[in-house]
Amino acid sequence: MKQNNTMALKLMDMTTERDRVESFSGGKWPFRTGLLAPQKMAEAGFFYCGSELNGWDCVRCFVCLKELGGWEPCDDPWEEHRGHSPGCLLARLARKQALLTVYETYDVMAAHCMAIQKDLLHRRKAQLEELHKQVENMIRAA
Ligand SMILES: [Zn+2]
Repeated sequence: MKQNNTMALKLMDMTTERDRVESFSGGKWPFRTGLLAPQKMAEAGFFYCGSELNGWDCVRCFVCLKELGGWEPCDDPWEEHRGHSPGCLLARLARKQALLTVYETYDVMAAHCMAIQKDLLHRRKAQLEELHKQVENMIRAA
């Protein structure tokens, strides 16, 4: 459960472009200039979440939580975002946060909160199913 809360807190920390740009500062993101520069990725809603497990070029949208990797230097982050997550409100609006209206900003933040809650529920359900299996096995073994 602690890991779930940590993930939710990290996601809540990624609601500003400045924080998302900072997430790319660890030196692992392979694109420093061009279409995939940290500022461009952050404007398109992405923060850095690369690792050995999910790839060093993995990013995640703070609104829809979609993870994307396998970036090519000619990729447009907005196009990739829309293509892989057509339901994402930020990807559909296709404007950096400073250019959103107050109402659009409210809707984006509401979508962000709902996605986090849905993700937490999904993870907790998986944990409860695992716990259920363990209890069944203990009962069978007794
Ligand atoms: Zn998104």
